[in-house]
Amino acid sequence: MEITRDLLMRKPAPAYEKLKDGEWEQVLAYAKGYKDFLDAGKTERDCVAEAAFQAEKQRIPVYTRHGKAIMLIRRGKRPLSEGLRIVAAHIDSPRIDLKPYPLYEKDGFALLKTHYYGGIKKYHWLASPLELRGIVYLRDGTAVKIAPGNDSPVLFITDVLPHLGTDQMKKKVAEAFPGESLNVTAGTVPDAEEGDDRIKFAVLSALHKRYGMTEHDFQSAELCLVPAGNARDAGLDGSMIGAYGHDDRSCSYAAMRALFDCPAPEYTCVCIMADKEEIGSEGITGMQSAFYDTVLEEMCTAEGTPLSICYQNSFCFSGDVTNAFDPNFADVSDPQNNARMGHGPCVMKATGRGGKSGSSDASAETMSKTRRLLDGAGVCWQMGELGKVDQGGGGTVAKFLAMRNIEVVDIGVPVLNMHAPMEVAAKIDCWQTYKAFLALYNDC
Ligand SMILES: [Zn+2]
Repeated sequence: MEITRDLLMRKPAPAYEKLKDGEWEQVLAYAKGYKDFLDAGKTERDCVAEAAFQAEKQRIPVYTRHGKAIMLIRRGKRPLSEGLRIVAAHIDSPRIDLKPYPLYEKDGFALLKTHYYGGIKKYHWLASPLELRGIVYLRDGTAVKIAPGNDSPVLFITDVLPHLGTDQMKKKVAEAFPGESLNVTAGTVPDAEEGDDRIKFAVLSALHKRYGMTEHDFQSAELCLVPAGNARDAGLDGSMIGAYGHDDRSCSYAAMRALFDCPAPEYTCVCIMADKEEIGSEGITGMQSAFYDTVLEEMCTAEGTPLSICYQNSFCFSGDVTNAFDPNFADVSDPQNNARMGHGPCVMKATGRGGKSGSSDASAETMSKTRRLLDGAGVCWQMGELGKVDQGGGGTVAKFLAMRNIEVVDIGVPVLNMHAPMEVAAKIDCWQTYKAFLALYNDC
């Protein structure tokens, strides 16, 4: 190669500048489908139900565990001994769970005690409309879905008024909002009957009327508070989506849609929507669970291939969001190595914190394949790291795929306000992420 200025990597251009005729319409149509998915999927259970519903329409086999984790599989032409093409994303998002004995009455209010789930900045969740969702198993084992109706009242956690916030404002943010103070206001009207806890009793009566549940039934329930309201277009130009749960439904949805759109793949394609990523991928529905192996092992056994060989020849995108560079908080990032909104999905060679600790740190071999795959499919993509070295960090499901001897790299949508009740992602990044996952499923 002649020594010319081409030695330099060209500064990455925003994905908007590479759009072909008619593609912006595709971006908007994709964004609409995604917003509908977000509105249907406020919890992992809701996401599983919606994904299963959509997959069954496409006649794609569905494997679920406890209604909280789901795998969609599309068989390819090649034998399983040649490996799978996997996109693994997660469908749980940070939220506020109810405690096992949540309901109590104090100072004229019925309240609910909570225990937050995942890494939140607690103050985001105060004075903000919330809704109760989940499942309750009644004494006889009947499952009752808890979901707000169209005109259901919202719930909320109070914050102190600024007029009386002098002491609160002096505290460090990390100390100003103790977890035990995140109690949800649930009612104010006392029941007409004489007795103790008349407001609490009135709230329970309302729950009983609607769901048939008693206070005992909280023992076999999973109930959580999530932001009320639907996904909205964001920005004066409407180029973004403001919604709860981009982390990581932007990647889950992209993986699902890509699987739907690869009718005759070369390799068997797997879309994993895992639970519990936000608390370490634990539990039988988290990425560490043998559930995923059990499903795939059964398939491999039928073909006479050891699962270990299938894994060894597989390639996986761990689809998870990363932080988009934020000009309001520029000093937490290395601007040269931070994902930019509107530049397509960000490939993360490594995640983790404090010297890449807890990261599976993809090999150059894996990066080489990724690069050729994405460039070959004309995907607009970028690389980055989550913020400045030693500023903090985070993990994904990638290392749990790597533990299974599956080649894996992180790739996902750059978002603003990560883990806040309203996260923001660019429509074009969501769509380019879908294209990246489609490129993996179409690998040949
Ligand atoms: Zn995530």
